[in-house]
Amino acid sequence: MRKAEYLNGESWEEIYIEEFEETVKGKLRDSLHWPKLRCISCNKVVIDKGIMTPNERYSAHFAHKEPPSNGEFCPLSSNTARFSGLKGNAYITSYAQAKERRFNFMDFDSLSRAYIICRHLRGGKGKLAQSEFIEMVRVADSYGVWFYSYLPEWGIPLLLMLMANHPTPNGNSAFFYTLKKDRQRKNIEWQNLNVRLEAHWVNDGAKIQVDKTKNPSFQHEIPFNQQTVQEIVGKEDMSWCCEDTLKVLKIYSEEQLKNMKDK
Ligand SMILES: [Zn+2]
Repeated sequence: MRKAEYLNGESWEEIYIEEFEETVKGKLRDSLHWPKLRCISCNKVVIDKGIMTPNERYSAHFAHKEPPSNGEFCPLSSNTARFSGLKGNAYITSYAQAKERRFNFMDFDSLSRAYIICRHLRGGKGKLAQSEFIEMVRVADSYGVWFYSYLPEWGIPLLLMLMANHPTPNGNSAFFYTLKKDRQRKNIEWQNLNVRLEAHWVNDGAKIQVDKTKNPSFQHEIPFNQQTVQEIVGKEDMSWCCEDTLKVLKIYSEEQLKNMKDK
């Protein structure tokens, strides 16, 4: 994971691994001096790895101190299988391009549109709080989604659905989506590979079988393509997405844009 939270005085603040490296320069690595770290998704203890090692630009990261017993309990677990479809999609792109993508995404119009798409996929109005959506974005930051070479702008909300475990509509169970495609190919766009998000149960990782006798209460499979996104946008009242109705997102957007301009 690229981003975690560290205890700064009394408050937990998010920090990227590169910033953490700067923060701890000259500090003793003991429990008194080294900042405490926790996972931004599950709040379990995390540790830093590979900092202060020159020449290995991308090796530094945070990791759970004790990996969760089930790799799907936390989307940032190194044992989750949900991102397998991203294999073959080269991880990187320059810092500058990753930053530009994130900056464009954080613009209020783009952020609120992504929110409505994710909320729709979660079951519609009342099913995804703005704060829960922001958690998904924070996990995406930590995962480093901005660095993947193939990352179409329309695809970002769909990838965000990988960044959390979702309650079933009756609240009795939890599921997650995995990104799947029919073949692994290197560095090509994903046309004709039947890329999709598949729903699996968190408890045992099993793919959720469609019960044809019932209307599904959530989507068991979401095609990863532009048409999926356009259809959702067509069904939703986007005029409702304004700064007055989505205040939490507006504040988050402003904060993020400001932070990125300052750096
Ligand atoms: Zn975690």
